[in-house]
Amino acid sequence: MLKFFIVLSFFLTNYCCACEHVILKIPNLDKEQIVAYSTGLRPYRKNGIRLEAETIDNKLIIHNYGHGGSGISLSWGSAQEAINIMKLHNNQGSNIAVLGAGVIGLTTAYILKSQGYSVTIYAREFVPQTTSNKAAGIWSADFGFSSMDETLYTRLKNVSYLKFQELATDNKSEIQGVFILPSYTEKDQFKIDDPLPDSHCVAWCNGVAKVCKKSSNIVFDFNIYMQDLFDQVRHKEVNFQYKNIESIKDLLQLPEDIIFNCSGLGSREIFNDAMLVPIKGHLVKFTAQPEIDFIVSKWHQKKDTFFSLIPWKTQLVLGGTMEKGVENLDIDEQKINDLIESAKKFFNIKS
Ligand SMILES: Cc1cc2nc3c(=O)[nH]c(=O)nc-3n(C[C@H](O)[C@H](O)[C@H](O)COP(=O)(O)OP(=O)(O)OC[C@H]3O[C@@H](n4cnc5c(N)ncnc54)[C@H](O)[C@@H]3O)c2cc1C
Repeated sequence: MLKFFIVLSFFLTNYCCACEHVILKIPNLDKEQIVAYSTGLRPYRKNGIRLEAETIDNKLIIHNYGHGGSGISLSWGSAQEAINIMKLHNNQGSNIAVLGAGVIGLTTAYILKSQGYSVTIYAREFVPQTTSNKAAGIWSADFGFSSMDETLYTRLKNVSYLKFQELATDNKSEIQGVFILPSYTEKDQFKIDDPLPDSHCVAWCNGVAKVCKKSSNIVFDFNIYMQDLFDQVRHKEVNFQYKNIESIKDLLQLPEDIIFNCSGLGSREIFNDAMLVPIKGHLVKFTAQPEIDFIVSKWHQKKDTFFSLIPWKTQLVLGGTMEKGVENLDIDEQKINDLIESAKKFFNIKS
C-alpha cells in the first residue's frame, strides 16, 4: 500500500502538476473551404546537405543543396555557412553567381549583397514557381540527416533559429511572414510507463481529450515570406537572369568566377549526384481561419506518416504526405482525402 502511495505521489508531483488543460478551437475543414492544392518535391540528400567547395577550371563552386524537408528552417544557417566556406577559399572575387532562386539561393544572395558583393542569380524558376513556394511552413530542422556532421548541423540550426526568432519578433523587419505559435503534437499512444514529455497538456476537442506535447514553434507564411525575401533581394539590386543549366559545362560558361550552387534537386542532373532523392509532398490550403491560432500535428508511428495543420495569416494549411522517390507532381486525390480525414479524426469532426 505504502509503495502505491509513493508511486502515486511521484506521478502527481512530476506529471500532473505540470499538466495544463486547453480547449482547442475546431477548424472548418469542409471541402467548400479549400482554396488550393499543391505538390512539391523535397530535395533530400541521403548522406546530408552538401555544403562544400570544389574548384573546376579555376571557378570556385560552393555547393549548398539537399535540404529535404528542412530547407526553409535551415536556410539562414546554410547560407551563412556557404559564405564562410567561400571566404576560406577566396578573399578577392567580388562578382558572384548564385544558381537557384529558391529559399536557399535567395537567402544566400541576400546575405552576400548585404556584405557588399555584386550578385547575379541564374535560375529556370523564380518565386512563386520554386519548390520553396510549395512548403508547408513550419520549423522542421530535424528532417533526418543521420550521417551529417553533428557540430555543423547544430550550427545550421542555431544560426537559423536565432534569425527566425529575430524576424518573428520584429514587426518592422523588411521580411515579414514569420510567427511563433503554440504547437500541440499528439502521438498515437502514450503507454502508462512512458515518460510524458516535459511540457504536456490535455487538449479537448469536441469533448474528446488528447494527451499532447505542447511547445512553441515557428510558422512561415509563404505567401508573405517568400515574396518579401524575393522583393528584398530585388531591392538590393541583385541581378536576375533566366537560365537553364544542363551540365557543368554550361555552368562554367557563366562569367563569374565564384558560383554558389543552390539548385536543389537540379544538382542531380548537373552534378550527377545520385545521393539526391525527391520526397513528394501534398498540401491542402483552406481559407484563412484567424481563430485557429495554434499548430496541431499528429504522428502515426506505425505507418510512419503525420499531418500538420498550420495557420498562415493568409490561409490554413494542411500537409504531411511523404512519398520517397516519386518524381511526378500530380495531385493524388486519395492522399488528399487521407490527409483531411486524419485531421478531422483528431478534432473529432464527423465527415
Ligand atoms: C510539401 C512540402 C512541405 C515542406 N514543408 C517544409 C516546412 O514546413 N519547413 C521547411 O523547413 N521545409 C519544408 N519543405 C522543404 C523545403 O521546401 C525545401 O527544403 C526547400 O524549398 C529547398 O530549397 P532550395 O532553394 O534548395 O530548392 P528550390 O526551391 O527547389 O530551388 C531550386 C532553384 O534552383 C533552380 N534550378 C534547379 N535546377 C536548375 C537548372 N538546371 N538550371 C537552372 N536553374 C535550376 C530552380 O529553378 C530554383 O530556382 C517542404 C517541402 C515540400 C515539398
